[in-house]
Amino acid sequence: MAAEEKLPAWNEIPPGGIIIEPGNAEERYTGDWRVFRPVINQDKCIRCLLCWVYCPDSVFHIVDEEYVTSKGRKYSFSLKIDYDHCKGCGICVEECPVNAIDFVEEVK
Ligand code: SF4
Ligand code: SF4
Repeated sequence: MAAEEKLPAWNEIPPGGIIIEPGNAEERYTGDWRVFRPVINQDKCIRCLLCWVYCPDSVFHIVDEEYVTSKGRKYSFSLKIDYDHCKGCGICVEECPVNAIDFVEEVK
């Protein structure tokens, strides 16, 4: 820590559980917590978006990328996971109706 940097005193720290700055969740990199990583199998994915609905961290992003499966089925969009904010809870893995999300051990 640089000499000019000073930690806040106890009475300068906001009480726990109080959000003093709305919309700041994006600045917290909860991806560091992860032990297992969800990985979408784009070929198996049927684009139902249940993972997008259930993810508590809203880390599924719908991207404007066409995808053609190995069986020739064409989708006009793909899904990407924001790994900076996915904390690896596994809810998406449980909820995916076609088991298109693998849960693999995180390698740091
Ligand atoms: S593991 Fe949890 S946080 Fe990560 S994408 Fe799935 S539901 Fe969201
Ligand atoms: S829940 Fe599964 S099939 Fe549905 S969009 Fe997500 S990954 Fe694809």
